[in-house]
Amino acid sequence: MFETMLKKIIILLFVSLLGNNLFSQTEGCATQMPAQKMKALRQFQQQLEIGQIPLGKKATKYVPIKIHIIGNNQGLGYYAVSSLLQTLCELNERFAPVGFHFFLADSISYINNDDFYKGDMDAIYTNADGYKLNGAVNVFFHGVGMQWCGVYFGGLDVVFIKNSCQGPNATTLAHELGHFFGLPHTFFGWEGGGAPGEIEKIDLTNCRTAGDGFCDTKADYVSSRWGCPLPYLLKDPNNVLFRPDSSMYMSYSSDYCQSRFSAEQMEAMRNDLNTRNIEAISTDLTKLPPPQKIVPSPNQKAVNAKNATLQWNKIPGAMAYHVQVARFGDWSILNFDKLVFDTTAVASLFGTWPYAWRVRAITAGNTCSEFGAVDTFETKEIPANISPALYEKDAWFFANPITVGESLVIQPQGDYDINVWNEWGAKIDIGSDRNNITLNDPGLYFVGIKKQDSFVVKRLIVLQNP
Ligand SMILES: [Zn+2]
Repeated sequence: MFETMLKKIIILLFVSLLGNNLFSQTEGCATQMPAQKMKALRQFQQQLEIGQIPLGKKATKYVPIKIHIIGNNQGLGYYAVSSLLQTLCELNERFAPVGFHFFLADSISYINNDDFYKGDMDAIYTNADGYKLNGAVNVFFHGVGMQWCGVYFGGLDVVFIKNSCQGPNATTLAHELGHFFGLPHTFFGWEGGGAPGEIEKIDLTNCRTAGDGFCDTKADYVSSRWGCPLPYLLKDPNNVLFRPDSSMYMSYSSDYCQSRFSAEQMEAMRNDLNTRNIEAISTDLTKLPPPQKIVPSPNQKAVNAKNATLQWNKIPGAMAYHVQVARFGDWSILNFDKLVFDTTAVASLFGTWPYAWRVRAITAGNTCSEFGAVDTFETKEIPANISPALYEKDAWFFANPITVGESLVIQPQGDYDINVWNEWGAKIDIGSDRNNITLNDPGLYFVGIKKQDSFVVKRLIVLQNP
């Protein structure tokens, strides 16, 4: 099986080079349906043929999905959490007519593995099984790879998706899950460019035995990616000219053309799910309200850039919280974008900048909730040898900037320790009178004040005496 897969990849690579494909969306799918899955499908299609299976809307089935996000060995290149949550949200819309609702079976697993990251088939065949969560649909997102967007590995029963092929409105995942639940391509038999022994006719007279075996999916012979409508005509064995149906997820039409599974395809997927024994009785579909933010307070200054602590209120029923931080509030470039299973996160930021942040609560079955209001805070850098600040419990004030020779007056209440560092992190001798600290050189300083379990560092600028 691996040998045939390799051959397949080489063919796909060759085809796509010929096609001069520059964009990932033009890449195909390297799935080969396992023989036993095709056999089961053919049997089911015989039942469809004799009218044993009523088509149409059925009760919703709740399907656990386990997400694995792969980075390289350095932990770089992860599929963004924002993309993932949007993808799941869109996936449930696409599968609503099927009667499937996916929910997160577990927390998201992060895997750092160069070979997986590159979509190396050999490594995936050897090692992917160990990462699988049994009783769920396992989907792996990886960074780069050969000339394919997605693969359903039949033997392993897992789906691999290349990150760049599953942005907003992309249909790669819906297509691969179609394979997962037993659907072949609408152009089944034409993969790799050759023609099958029996060619499906447009008049439906051989629709059970030719092509994908579904009689409500139109004949389709196109095994490379195409924009809709197909810019040329196909000719069936009776010399009838036609264009294939670009709306099918299981075709190779461009993502923007695709919008549906056929009624028979939906029934076949439901049948496949029934054999798997993984569906849940229910899941929490609540669209949760956003939590209230606690720390940092709105417009808070001097938040430790390296360890910016973010905290919010617990929302009953939340599985996790989606937290985003963006410098200057530019949400297209995120400095922090994580799914957090607690009500605190520590973001590693940089510099003295205004940052905006927002948070939303999700349930396992509803990742479509909205973010709460945006708040901003300002960071500061603390020299490396100063221990990281916790968050500020009290406010301490002093005049800032001061000039050389002027005393630094600090007014915290109760017992406190004070230390001053220069901008290079060297500790300054401030004498024993902590209420009368005088700095003799102009420059940038850091004043650290420790009181019980709170530690705050403030930036102090000392100006040259005019
Ligand atoms: Zn495919």
